[in-house]
Amino acid sequence: MNAKPTNTLFPRTPVLFCDFDGTITTSDNIVAIMKWFEPEGVREIIDDIVGERKSIRQGVGEMFALLPSSMKEEITDFVIGQAGIRLGFPELLDWCKAHDVPFYVTSGGIDFFVYPLLQPFGIPADHIYCNGSDFSGERIRITWPHPCDGECGGDCGMCKTTIIRRFPRDEYYRILIGDSVTDFAGAKLADLVFSRSHLTDKCRELGLPHIPFETFHDIIRNLDQGGAVS
Ligand SMILES: [Mg+2]
Ligand SMILES: [Zn+2]
Repeated sequence: MNAKPTNTLFPRTPVLFCDFDGTITTSDNIVAIMKWFEPEGVREIIDDIVGERKSIRQGVGEMFALLPSSMKEEITDFVIGQAGIRLGFPELLDWCKAHDVPFYVTSGGIDFFVYPLLQPFGIPADHIYCNGSDFSGERIRITWPHPCDGECGGDCGMCKTTIIRRFPRDEYYRILIGDSVTDFAGAKLADLVFSRSHLTDKCRELGLPHIPFETFHDIIRNLDQGGAVS
């Protein structure tokens, strides 16, 4: 008994689920890639995703299939060269370590840029969930190692709610950090949401408990107070 140190700040064991694109990084990397390389036909696919005529999984798969595998290095160099990490990210990881709070990256991004960008921060590989990629064919093929479970009909690609459901609510205090449409479903399952951008609007609309943030320092300040929604 009591082998695990308890965290007295929260009613149950806290666990953090953090989005990558536009949250850990200051902008969305898939959007940046598609804007920069602009393969022919990408506009239509983006319109279909935004108009919800295509799932995220289908749309993202189709967009990358427009790009030849031979561009792997060029695309990787571009993403790594332009991506910025949001202020306070290493400090949040330190805070999680100090308070024995598990930190998971739940990303709809792709392994070839997610792993290199996170490499400096020492997050264990099994705490990073994202999509995969295969450059062995003529065109880039995105792979989906973390699909939706039976509870989710979203065809998400990397299914955030599937990951979150592995941490039952009666045991865990589930905290989600995110910014956008791919975080909406997860936000509904979370006990607490730290939100930016579209996610803030959506939480407000749905009446979900949320705390808008700009840097990870804002989140640390709030976590130190037990995540009180003011
Ligand atoms: Mg995002
Ligand atoms: Zn899903």
